Amino acid sequence: MKAVLVREFGGPEVLKLEEVLTPKPAAGQVLVRIHAAGVNPYDTYMRAGTYAVKPPLPYTPGSDGAGVIEAVGDGVKKVKKGDRVYTAKTLSGAYAEYALALEEQVHALPDKISFSQGAGVWVPYTTAYHALHHSAQARASESVLVHGASGGVGSAAVQMARAMGLTVFGTAGTQKGIDLVKREGAHQVFDHSKAGYQEEILKATGGRGADVILEMLANVNLAADRKLLATNGRVIVIGNRGEITINPRDLMLRRASARGFTLWAITPAEETEIHAGLIAGLENGTLRPVVGKELPLAEAARAHKEILEPGAAGKIVLVP
Ligand code: NAP
Repeated sequence: MKAVLVREFGGPEVLKLEEVLTPKPAAGQVLVRIHAAGVNPYDTYMRAGTYAVKPPLPYTPGSDGAGVIEAVGDGVKKVKKGDRVYTAKTLSGAYAEYALALEEQVHALPDKISFSQGAGVWVPYTTAYHALHHSAQARASESVLVHGASGGVGSAAVQMARAMGLTVFGTAGTQKGIDLVKREGAHQVFDHSKAGYQEEILKATGGRGADVILEMLANVNLAADRKLLATNGRVIVIGNRGEITINPRDLMLRRASARGFTLWAITPAEETEIHAGLIAGLENGTLRPVVGKELPLAEAARAHKEILEPGAAGKIVLVP
């Protein structure tokens, strides 16, 4: 089979499409014929060798795939050959024609969700779910600012928060992104590339501030976010690419808090809840992964460059 391999940590050029042996599922494992693989920002940090999780070399990137069960190992009961699934991590990497996974790492992909959309479920929607439900404990009638709403996590959060009954404010940095965020359900959208847009957001909340902020770029925005919070507001740090100095007084004045998480630390109980919630939302149409670009597997390096550039518009997926 064909698979993308990383033989050394480095720039996008270290992603090479190679011919490798197709793995066979052992007991408790499944082999998935991958129809699409989702590209996430953390894939690029891992490839560069700068991420907290450093896989042994060589490795195939990708935790998010969607496809069809090709074969199952002894004792597998949850799925059978021919079932449509999305993956939540894999054993062998999703940037490939086939991926080996544990039985518990594959989940039913509803018929109405395409494979390319299915490749955008695990990291983006799990992050959005965990941020809104577990970390922020957001409730209907509250307001949320999705700060960076045009990408994978942000568009997922906009759809989810809207379905939960929140008032949703979103931001994007291009007209295409702004249109996307409106289309996915935000009540009002702001341009985070424009000077002074924070005042417009505060005005839109009636001067009260947002109850919840989901922050995709904390090293740039965290100091300003605290002034956009309502009393008892919560900033949830999802994305961060550096350091920032903040004055905690802004939190104290509002009885507010800033919290962060990484998906690697979610508990098995949280994960069970998340998949049940996501599959229900995918089935009933409230969750609709937005695919911005499909690229062939051979263009994994281009995907890694483009995902870090401004102008996000949903997910970038690789199609074997
Ligand atoms: P993505 O698809 O590349 O989207 C990036 C988003 O950030 C876009 O909406 C982009 O908007 C926005 N952005 C750019 N400049 C911004 C600014 N100055 N202020 C606010 N937003 C800005 O990435 P993603 O998959 O949504 O992930 C978003 C971030 O969360 C990444 O840093 C990722 O590593 C992190 N993440 C963390 C976890 C976790 O477990 N904590 C899980 C998933 C993702 P424009 O392109 O329109 O400017």
